[in-house]
Amino acid sequence: MTGPAAPDPLLQMALRVEQDIFLVRQRGREVAAAVGLEHQDQVRLATALSEVARDLLRAVEGADVTFAVVVDAHTGQRVLRVDLAPVRPLPDGRYEPQSGAVARLVDMLGVVTDEGDTVVRMSRRVPAPATPLTPERLAQLRTQLASSAPGTALDELAAQNAQLIAALDEVRSHRDELEVLNSELQETNRGVMALYNQLTEELEETNRGVVALYAELDEKSVQLRAASESKSRFLANVSHELRAPVTAIMGLGRLLADSASDPLTGEQARQVDLIRSSAADLLNLVNELLDLAKAESGRLEPTWAEVDLRGLFGQLRGTLRALATRPGVELVVEEPPAPATIRSDEVLLAQVLRNLLHNGLKFTERGEVRLRAERRGELWALSVTDTGAGIPPELHERIFEEFYQVPGATRVGGTGLGLPYARRLVTLLGGTLELVSEPGRGSTFTVVLPVGGA
Ligand code: ADP
Repeated sequence: MTGPAAPDPLLQMALRVEQDIFLVRQRGREVAAAVGLEHQDQVRLATALSEVARDLLRAVEGADVTFAVVVDAHTGQRVLRVDLAPVRPLPDGRYEPQSGAVARLVDMLGVVTDEGDTVVRMSRRVPAPATPLTPERLAQLRTQLASSAPGTALDELAAQNAQLIAALDEVRSHRDELEVLNSELQETNRGVMALYNQLTEELEETNRGVVALYAELDEKSVQLRAASESKSRFLANVSHELRAPVTAIMGLGRLLADSASDPLTGEQARQVDLIRSSAADLLNLVNELLDLAKAESGRLEPTWAEVDLRGLFGQLRGTLRALATRPGVELVVEEPPAPATIRSDEVLLAQVLRNLLHNGLKFTERGEVRLRAERRGELWALSVTDTGAGIPPELHERIFEEFYQVPGATRVGGTGLGLPYARRLVTLLGGTLELVSEPGRGSTFTVVLPVGGA
């Protein structure tokens, strides 16, 4: 296993009597130290050597011991090799150390046959020493070892004792280190466990929170839906109940003012007029409320059909002209470009446009109110543009809220329900109602609807 054969030995000695065991051990350590083995390895080698020496003395009455430094043929590394050539042949040509642990003290231990001689061989790798093991250096070591006087068995015992104590110390310090490490490990483990538990708890808590939040949200949306439904129901009921008496008041007013009735004094006539116009306002409000409640309750179903925009625009032009009575304001209804058809609900769409045109006429003192249709790909944009007062940007959303009216605007009557209703209807028709407006620059309300319907 380790070659080449027959290098110059560093040291040779005979093992014949009990005392030689100590000597072999002592010299083994010396050689190991001389070739640069570390302290631990010196002790290991010396211990293995004394064990094998004891075995061989008993089994074959001794051996010739040769120490040499050789290069291992397999690893190319330098090893310290000790050959113990038995005095008598090994039983069955084999050798097993008494203690199994011995083999572990060195890199290799076994019986080899080298040039016809059977020897027990052990070897240990030599680390690259500070002083390289040149042939000169080896020769020097050889001389040095030859001259050093072998000590007595007692010396070796003392040395052995010291080594034992050192080994024990080392074991103890290893054990202490291990204990420290162990307790550190346990501490870390506990820390990790605590962190894990904490995280798990926090996660569970967050989960519980999220679940609770969702439950609350569900409950709230159910409540909201219920509230909105009951509001619509209430509005519908109240306006329905109000419509009959208000209509009656108007009828009575008409009767009172009728020329066939008893003549009224000037003051009475004025008051009756007031009652009639208030009743008319109230009826208007009631009707709008009813419309809105119907649209909000979801009971309003559009009747889809092909709508001719030109016809619709013509109709609006006719009905609204009567309203455009202000001298400085013109109502312009443009002719929609052909093909001017859209799939929609004609009644609802007319209601929306009428509402927007009505507002335009209400809030414009000079200039014009214009209705035009523009095709944008698969959409129709129906816009109502006026040259009125305009609406500040921060109110662009608010005017779509129920009952909201821009403060300070010219009081021209109305309920504040027209735009929210218009937006609802446009949504029902599958479109959007957009506003572009600036104070002093007029307003443009645009109904954008898909050509093919919702
Ligand atoms: P109403 O017209 O009955 O007051 P709307 O919901 O139709 O209610 O409109 C809400 C408010 O939005 C109006 O009171 C008015 O202040 C403002 N507004 C609507 N249209 C216009 C417009 N074309 N120009 C200026 N302001 C407008």
